[in-house]
Amino acid sequence: MTTAAPHSVDDQIDATTRAFLERPPRLLIDGELVEARSGRTLDVVDPGTGQKIAVAAAGDALDADRAVGAARRAFEPGAPWRTMSALDRGRRIERFARLLEEHADEIVALEVLDGGKLRGAVVAGDLPLAVKHLDYFAGWASKIEGNTIPVSVPDTMVRTEREPVGVVAQIVPWNFPLLMAMWKIAPALAAGCTIVLKPAENTPLTAMRFGELALEAGIPPGVLNILTGFGAEAGEALVDHPGVDKVAFTGSTAVGIRIAQRAASQVKRVTLELGGKSPNIVFADSPVEEAALGAASIFGNAGQACSAGTRLYVERKSFDDVVGRLSEIASGMRIGHGLAEGSDLGPVISDRQHERVRGYIDGALEQGATLAAGGSSMPRGVDDRGYYVQPTVLTDVDDTFTAVREEIFGPVVVAQPFDDLEDIARRANDSPYGLAAGIWTRDIARANRLARLLQAGTVYINMYGQTDAAAPFGGYKQSGYGRDMGHANLESYLETKTVWTSLA
Ligand code: NAP
Ligand code: MG
Repeated sequence: MTTAAPHSVDDQIDATTRAFLERPPRLLIDGELVEARSGRTLDVVDPGTGQKIAVAAAGDALDADRAVGAARRAFEPGAPWRTMSALDRGRRIERFARLLEEHADEIVALEVLDGGKLRGAVVAGDLPLAVKHLDYFAGWASKIEGNTIPVSVPDTMVRTEREPVGVVAQIVPWNFPLLMAMWKIAPALAAGCTIVLKPAENTPLTAMRFGELALEAGIPPGVLNILTGFGAEAGEALVDHPGVDKVAFTGSTAVGIRIAQRAASQVKRVTLELGGKSPNIVFADSPVEEAALGAASIFGNAGQACSAGTRLYVERKSFDDVVGRLSEIASGMRIGHGLAEGSDLGPVISDRQHERVRGYIDGALEQGATLAAGGSSMPRGVDDRGYYVQPTVLTDVDDTFTAVREEIFGPVVVAQPFDDLEDIARRANDSPYGLAAGIWTRDIARANRLARLLQAGTVYINMYGQTDAAAPFGGYKQSGYGRDMGHANLESYLETKTVWTSLA
C-alpha cells in the first residue's frame, strides 16, 4: 500500500465551488432558499481531510411540515405541474439533465468533497449515470398509459388511468448522494409526483445545488423540495407526516424496517432499497487476472456500495491464485484524497464509519481470520487526517464469522474456498440479504444454472457492479422491496384508477 502524493486539497477547489461552500445554511422549499425554523445547522465534513468545509441547515418536523405543504400545493389539480402536458413535463426533466451536464464541474467537486469520493469515479460514473437517469425517465413521462378492459358487464366501458401517487418523501444515504437521489427523483418526476428529498446528514451538498438546477430547468417551485437534516428528525417527520403519500427509502435494513413499520400505520406506500452482503463466486476455469480484478471491485467507493461483492468465494483449486492476485492488487492501491492525482482509494465517510469498519476487521482477527492484505494498521492518509482504511482481504474465515454475515460497508472482503455448484448456491443464499451476486466462469450454462439458484435481485456474470437506468435494481429478502430503475420503477409512483361508464 502506498499513499498518493501529499498535496493541498485547498488548491484544487475552484471559486464557484468555494462560493457554494461558503453560502449560509438553507433548505429549498417552494422554490425558495429558507433557514430551518429552529435555526439549527449541521457541519459538513470532507472525509478526506476530516475538516469542516460547509454548514447545512438541520431541518426538523416544522420544516418537514413546511416542505410537505409546498409539495402538496404543487400537487393540487390546478397547479402548473398537474396541468402541463406529459410531453412538457418530460422536456423539463430533460432540461434538468442538460443543466446537470453544464454544471458538471461544480457538481463533481461538491460530490467529491462531501462524500470523500474519487474525482475520476464521479466524472466517469456518478455524474453521467445521474444524467442518463434523468434522460431515461424524461422519455417515459409521455408514455404512461392506461388500458381499456373488456369486462363481461353488458353496455359498459371500463378503462384504467394511471395517476401520480402524490407527494413522495425520498430518503437517501451518503454513499452515492447524487446518484441515489436521481434514482428516486427521475421516476417520481416522470410520473408527475411532487417530492421532498432528505439527503443524508453526511452529504447534503449536491442535493442543494441540483435542487436549484431543477428550478432553473422549469420544474415548478414546490415540486422538488430539499430538506437537509438528521434522519431521526427530518426523516422521521416525513415518514409520519399525513401529507406524504409514499416513502421511497435507500439505506440500512434497520432504518428501513423502522420506516416500514411507521408508514404501515397510515397505509403509506413504501419502497425499500436496503443493505447487502453479496457473494462474488469464482470458478476455477475463470482467468485469474480477470477474476481478481472482478473481485477487487469491492474496493470501489471504498467498499461503500450496497451491491459490493463482499463475500468472495473461489473454487478451491484456484483459491490461492485468485486471492493472491487480489491481495497484490489491494496492496498496490494508492490511498488518498479524491482530488489528489493518482488516488485509487478514498476515505470512508466518517470517523464513526472508520471505527465501525476497523471493529469488523479486529473482530474477524480475534475470531481467527488471517490478513491477506491491508487491515492491521490504518494510516489516516494524507497529512494523517481523514478517515482512510486500507483495502483489506481476510481469509481463514467461515460462514459463521461476523465479518462474513454482516454488512461492513468499507473496503473489506472476506474470501473462502468452495467445492461445487450446489454447495456454493446454498452458502451464497445463507444470508438475510439478497441484493446482488457475481459469477465468474467460461461455462455459460453453469453460470446461468447458478444464476437461477441465487436469491439476489441482480446477478452479474463475468462482470460486476454495473447499473443502468433501464435495468431494474433492488433486493430479495431483507435487501428490500420494490425496484429502482427500469420502467417498472414507474409503477411505484403511480396509482391505477378504474373508470366505469354506462353505455346504456
Ligand atoms: P441509514 O443510516 O439507514 O440512512 C439512510 C438515510 O435514512 C439517511 O438520510 C438517514 O439520515 C435517514 N434516516 C436515518 N434514520 C432515520 C429514521 N429513523 N427515519 C427516517 N430516516 C432516517 O443508512 P446509511 O448508513 O446512511 O447508508 C448505508 C446503507 O444504505 C447501507 O446499509 C447500504 O447497503 C444501504 N444502501 C442500499 C442501496 C440499495 O440500493 N439497496 C444503495 C445504497 C446504500 P441520517 O443521514 O441523518 O442518518
Ligand atoms: Mg446514517
